Amino acid sequence: MLRRIVSYLALVLFATTAAAADDLAPGVRLLPGRFVAGEQPDGNTVVFDGAGGLIVFDTGRHAAHTDAIIDYAHARDLPIAAIFNSHWHLDHVGGNARLRKAYPDARVHASGAIEQAMHGFLAKYRAQIEPILAKPDADPAQKAALREELALIDAGPALYPDERIERAGVQAIAGRRVQVGLETRAVTAGDVWLFDPATRTLAAGDLVTLPAPLFDTACPVRWQAALGHLAKVDFERLVPGHGAPLTRAQFATWRTAFDHLLACGASKAAKDACIDGWMRDAQSLVPVADEKLARGLLDYYVDNSLRGDAKKTRDLCGG
Ligand SMILES: [Zn+2]
Repeated sequence: MLRRIVSYLALVLFATTAAAADDLAPGVRLLPGRFVAGEQPDGNTVVFDGAGGLIVFDTGRHAAHTDAIIDYAHARDLPIAAIFNSHWHLDHVGGNARLRKAYPDARVHASGAIEQAMHGFLAKYRAQIEPILAKPDADPAQKAALREELALIDAGPALYPDERIERAGVQAIAGRRVQVGLETRAVTAGDVWLFDPATRTLAAGDLVTLPAPLFDTACPVRWQAALGHLAKVDFERLVPGHGAPLTRAQFATWRTAFDHLLACGASKAAKDACIDGWMRDAQSLVPVADEKLARGLLDYYVDNSLRGDAKKTRDLCGG
């Protein structure tokens, strides 16, 4: 009995802190994703209160991140009613199967782009992982991480949407009125953002990321145009796919840094000048602890995306 009381008290305490701390606005909670060098990231998750259930925007990659979403739902004593995925990257859809298992009634809303990616980008990624796992001398920690990646890819249709988002518009989701945005061929073939007019919160997914933009599957010029669409939304705070929430002024700073980076990438300037330019423009947004990570990312993306294979970029931009 005593043990029961103690655990009940712990639950109440947890529930109290969970409801009070870290809310971006009333009924809007950020569960931050981890992004550190040498590890695969988790995207940020934003949870909105619906009527009698929660709306989860992005589900993370690692079990620990997804479990934090489930713990939050438990603490609030509310089911997860709806899930949105900003795009198909594993750090944003990886938790779908786990959440569906915990909440079988939750409907997943996303663009259909994951189905093509599963047979393209993700199939190629899988084919790169297998030979590393077959190497007897590969680092055991790396192997364990890669096995988790394989398991995510092999979840296949369990990551796919129930409701394919094919156009932008205002919808009632779990009783909450939200504006659903859809950008095509920006960061991926289909990028979804969610605007909550009640709190003026914009969940932007990887259309905005810190400490740097992530160009792996992007069409840079269409992405640039998509940022113009976000700028027209009447948001007070923008939650990026990675990094801390931004004010309107901070988003404008980020967007200028992005524009300069693209212009630099298209010029004959030295790669280091492009990297230094981003670091200067976005200095107020990049935490000191992430500067090295930002430089490392840009070092890769200037060569491989902004100045990479022109045909690959054309294909990503739709030919
Ligand atoms: Zn991401």
